[in-house]
Amino acid sequence: MFKKILVANRGEIALRIQRACRELGVKAVMVYSEADRDAKYVKLAEEAVCIGPAASSLSYLNMPALISAAEVTDAEAIHPGYGFLSENADFAERVERSGFQFIGPTPESIRIMGDKVSAKQAMIKAGVPCVPGSEGELPDDPIQIKRIAKSVGYPVIIKAAGGGGGRGMRVVHTEAALVNAVAMTKNEAGAAFGNPAVYMEKFLQNPRHVEIQILADKYKNAVYLGERDCSMQRRHQKVIEEAPAPGIPRKIIERVGERCVAACKKIGYRGAGTFEFLYEDGNFYFIEMNTRVQVEHPVTEMTTGIDIVKTQIMVAAGEKLPFTQRQIEIRGHAIECRLNAEDAYKFIPSPGRITMWHPPGGPGVRVDSHIYTNYFVPPNYDSMIGKVIVHGDTREQALARMRTALAETVVEGINTNLALHRELMVDAKFMEGGTNIHYLEGWLANHSR
Ligand code: ADP
Repeated sequence: MFKKILVANRGEIALRIQRACRELGVKAVMVYSEADRDAKYVKLAEEAVCIGPAASSLSYLNMPALISAAEVTDAEAIHPGYGFLSENADFAERVERSGFQFIGPTPESIRIMGDKVSAKQAMIKAGVPCVPGSEGELPDDPIQIKRIAKSVGYPVIIKAAGGGGGRGMRVVHTEAALVNAVAMTKNEAGAAFGNPAVYMEKFLQNPRHVEIQILADKYKNAVYLGERDCSMQRRHQKVIEEAPAPGIPRKIIERVGERCVAACKKIGYRGAGTFEFLYEDGNFYFIEMNTRVQVEHPVTEMTTGIDIVKTQIMVAAGEKLPFTQRQIEIRGHAIECRLNAEDAYKFIPSPGRITMWHPPGGPGVRVDSHIYTNYFVPPNYDSMIGKVIVHGDTREQALARMRTALAETVVEGINTNLALHRELMVDAKFMEGGTNIHYLEGWLANHSR
């Protein structure tokens, strides 16, 4: 096992990784920007290094600063968390070239999966079901583009190979609009992602977002830890996640999970990862892979009892996965609400001083958050200030626990989306389960105030 790890991130995930290190008996070096000097995990740290000013381009995205922080503190490995440099293959490469272990997959795996066209091709080869569409990048010839769209069937969606964060996509309903839409998406993709390649998929009308968590070691052992339903989204950003996905037969999940495991073995994947799918009419369609730990990993930890972050560190240190697929059991139901510092219905960010923080508690309640009373939420970063996660024997019990937990939660001094979560937990359709990716946006449109 490592003696010391550098945590190259901030906020709740930095605290989460610090906790995993403590349990493993590994020293965690925390980094912070000038805006995060007062963060809880910095105060709790045995060692902490300032890596630059508030702007993330000068701190959390500053590769030389992060690598020299690891050098001066004698860390052996770097955990990238999520966001920032976590899916940057060049960073992973620089970390390893500087003699540190990158806690994540190889730079090659990150590179293949970071390009959606090559990711999809790798998945097709591994037998993972994908959304029907073009075989790879679209050609320039308008006649060929039209022919492909005809065989896929309208509506189609044009997507940038290098896209991310819900950007670089365009839905096309008719042949008349097709060629122009492809040209526009190509232009935008070139400007935004430095890669003009685009591909085409059938546009699914009412899918759910269901993803499969996997863990793999360096010895080609891999397992899947069941699925998560992340369909409650606003602008392609997840708001509520849960596990398992309501109403999807276990048999179907098992079949897809096994394909994901096979794909991991085939590409020599190591560490934690997530295969994201759209689910419609009983079918799974791969859309992309995330090669890192995700915000919503706790719901899987609650239903499997497996510590995903600790396992990431263990396999990076060269240990074998400590469990086999047969030992993994899904128990009960877990739900996560993301707490954001923003207006609950207008979504305007609300950074500032928290004058009062009272987290919920009780059986089956977990709070992952770095905030505290008198903490100042800096305006420079993502608005998420924490996550409330509950576990129950059934979905009904989990919902009841979440209602109780949210009723107990107090955040004063800034606006948060607590009120939105409280309303959604008593929404009849959400309580039924199985809402699709458009449900929350529709709900918000009907509840505008
Ligand atoms: P990003 O990397 O930008 O998040 P994804 O490929 O994961 O892009 O897609 C983001 C979201 O866009 C999906 O969760 C879904 O809401 C929508 N989407 C993507 N592809 C399709 C498709 N073929 N049909 C319908 N919706 C899609």
